Amino acid sequence: MSKKYYIETLGCAMNVRDSEHMIAELSLKEGYEAAESLEEADLILINTCSVREKPVHKLFSEIGQFSKRKKAGAKIGVCGCTASHLGEEIIKRAPSVDFVLGARNVSKITEVLHRPKAVEVDIDYDESSYAFGEFRTSLYKAFINISIGCDKQCSFCIVPHTRGEEISIPAELILQEAQKAARTGAKEIFLLGQNVNNYGRRFSGEHPKMDFTDLLKAVSEIEEVERIRFTSPHPLHMDDAFLEEFAKNPKICKSMHMPLQSGSTRILKAMKRGYSKEWFLDRAFRLREMVPDVSISTDIIVGFPGERDEDFEDTMDVIEQVRFEQIFSFKYSPRPMTPAREYEGQVPDEVGSKRLKRVQERHNEMLDEMKEERLGRLYEVYFEELKPGGMVAGRTGNNWLVHARGSEELLGRTARVKIVETSRLGSVGEIVA
Ligand code: SF4
Repeated sequence: MSKKYYIETLGCAMNVRDSEHMIAELSLKEGYEAAESLEEADLILINTCSVREKPVHKLFSEIGQFSKRKKAGAKIGVCGCTASHLGEEIIKRAPSVDFVLGARNVSKITEVLHRPKAVEVDIDYDESSYAFGEFRTSLYKAFINISIGCDKQCSFCIVPHTRGEEISIPAELILQEAQKAARTGAKEIFLLGQNVNNYGRRFSGEHPKMDFTDLLKAVSEIEEVERIRFTSPHPLHMDDAFLEEFAKNPKICKSMHMPLQSGSTRILKAMKRGYSKEWFLDRAFRLREMVPDVSISTDIIVGFPGERDEDFEDTMDVIEQVRFEQIFSFKYSPRPMTPAREYEGQVPDEVGSKRLKRVQERHNEMLDEMKEERLGRLYEVYFEELKPGGMVAGRTGNNWLVHARGSEELLGRTARVKIVETSRLGSVGEIVA
């Protein structure tokens, strides 16, 4: 009988892809299959996130629960960013854990599995040229890593300490992967990296020079690829050539993530983001000028140390001016190993909560206005998922979720849809062609 794995993935799209890589390695080299439940699994993996504090606290209570529920002899492995940052402390605090595998070491999964109490958390480990086995969570969309690590040193962020220095994955590997995925039904390619538009800054070994704009062009030349998305680009590297390619290349979906973090130039400086409020607005306006229907999403941190009322008003001002379709907003949470943790002027929790509430309430009002604008309009929707009640779900190029009546034969296809109902969370449409 084959061995079974159970995996829980927290955090960002990079973690989702790391989980896919581990599953591919486990099934290719060890014959593992997915378990229906945790109780049935021979191997339980928790792929963790440490960008905020909450998931780290949750990890230890979860390990406790999983060890009670697991079957006798089943192993527990803790992987991902928290594994990188806490290392062997995890096994000391939770002896039921069998191994710890860092976010930059996922290619070693089938090796650590057989080494009792192994701790592999080397953030200098270079797996940029490692050809992982194939596994995709979705048949219709392929996540492809284009770089590992991050060279920025944003003062609030733990990622450079958990994923290490940035190394670009050679373009030939990315293109091979994209070609294979598109030929086997994933017509949407999702390029992933902490800082995608810094692509090509550093390769391991000799590789032809290529930047992110060139990479986008190369992926779009693969005939079977219909749609390209990417995350996360950094506002600092949004030069004209990149924005022009984004605007004119019909295969690139017209949704852009522009992580603002703060609208105050003073706070952006303290965050070490490398751009000003004016630069951010200039890039967002240039983008809207070139692609009027573009959907822009963002990340915002409120209550960063030293944030005064006027700094927060600058953030609100950018929200008003850019009208983001999606805002991932958070209260600042001090992370280990980050300079901002030691900054003076930590903002009281209740002030942070009030500011967060204001961002979210104003954004909800804006979403209500935006959803009205969608009613009755036609969009190209790429369908990816079957839903209960004879429905299918997909996304417009500008990343709005749309449900429509339909069945399996719509999956992996793009159809023209008229929007007949909208809410903040998505729309319902009727297929017109
Ligand atoms: S760009 Fe900044 S926020 Fe993003 S992963 Fe790198 S250090 Fe963290």
